[in-house]
Amino acid sequence: MANCNIQTCPVCGVKIEGEDKVIFSSGPVGTRARLWARVCNYVQKPDCINQDQEAIGSVGENDYYRPI
Ligand SMILES: [Zn+2]
Repeated sequence: MANCNIQTCPVCGVKIEGEDKVIFSSGPVGTRARLWARVCNYVQKPDCINQDQEAIGSVGENDYYRPI
């Protein structure tokens, strides 16, 4: 039985599958921490489903978007 449990953030438009698998519109699959660092960190709207610090966990340096 496949239970995909995919949530879509109405603010960011990003899909979160299961507990901690984020499907970006482009690029590789990431984590909630990465999504937060790159997107949700900037929106800060209550409708965003990725504003729960406990679910996000610790955000590492590599999670932030860094232009080359
Ligand atoms: Zn969001």
